[in-house]
Amino acid sequence: MKAAVLWERRTPLKIEEIDLADLQPGEARVRMLASGVCHSDLHHINRETPFKPPLVLGHEGAGVVDAVSPDVKSVKPGDRVVIMFGSKCGTCHFCHSGEDYLCTTPLPDHPRFIRKDERFAQLLGVGSFAEYVNVTASNLVRVPDEVPIECAALLACGVTTGLGAVTTTAKVEPGSNVAVIGIGGVGMNVVQGAALAGANRVIAVDLVERKLEMAHQFGATHMINASETDPVQAIKDLTHGRGADYVFEVIGRPNTIKQAYDAARNGGTAVVVGLGAADEEVSFNLAELMRSGKAIQGCFYGSVRPHMDVPRYIDMYLNGRIKIDQLISRRFRLDQVNEAFDAMQAGEVARGVIMYE
Ligand SMILES: [Zn+2]
Ligand SMILES: [Zn+2]
Repeated sequence: MKAAVLWERRTPLKIEEIDLADLQPGEARVRMLASGVCHSDLHHINRETPFKPPLVLGHEGAGVVDAVSPDVKSVKPGDRVVIMFGSKCGTCHFCHSGEDYLCTTPLPDHPRFIRKDERFAQLLGVGSFAEYVNVTASNLVRVPDEVPIECAALLACGVTTGLGAVTTTAKVEPGSNVAVIGIGGVGMNVVQGAALAGANRVIAVDLVERKLEMAHQFGATHMINASETDPVQAIKDLTHGRGADYVFEVIGRPNTIKQAYDAARNGGTAVVVGLGAADEEVSFNLAELMRSGKAIQGCFYGSVRPHMDVPRYIDMYLNGRIKIDQLISRRFRLDQVNEAFDAMQAGEVARGVIMYE
């Protein structure tokens, strides 16, 4: 089967013929049908991360169960599924306390992508830029036939992270003023989550005019182009000079995280959703942090509880409460994966999706 392999950081992916290992207990094999291309895949191309090349990227996938290990009862061959990433062991302290996204159990370290003696790492236990993947079966959430498979794929990261950041992590109250810095695939879902949560002002900040126009369709009430205006001052101007109740940073850079903090009102919250680099830090004035009563909140994976939240998001989609189709601006084949990254970096797409058939 074919997979897109990162052989070396900062180089294009290469399509290779590789094999899958035999299924281990607790695992399922999924035939991939759709995989979104997310900014955090790019992070693993350009930065040093715990996932070492040769590496199969991709963590926003959906497909059909092809086979399961005999002990797996939660899914069966033929089921359409979304593949959630990371560990969700179901037995550690965090899984028991309903904070699955904080699961401390390491990802399986036995090789799943192989070729003779070669071993290929699998990003976040998924590696969805491959025609087939072996994954932990408890990470699979079944998807009804009415949901197009490329929309299902976006539930594995962008939609779930964005909506969850608003509703589960920050718990935005109706009437709040919300600002969102960085309107990519996740940021657009923070915008739609804020609108859905009944926010008063939803202020979208980006450098790309096309994304700001799209944010308006997803519920943004005000758009700020940060290449023309100081976003902190603009957010304050829109919120009686105070700043927003919640400012979501969906980029992962020190300067924009500082902007989010500065643009939050006293007593407000800066929510860091963007994936930052392991070697970068942000500093805050200590006296101001204490006196302002501001909170800085990290948000991983929208604080998702997969088997509770994903079926809820599917229901909301089928009921017309959230948009997913409109996020998908271009479809690519697996052998066009590098083009998909180029389009994302050029700001041409909200989400590009790799389609496997
Ligand atoms: Zn992602
Ligand atoms: Zn766990």
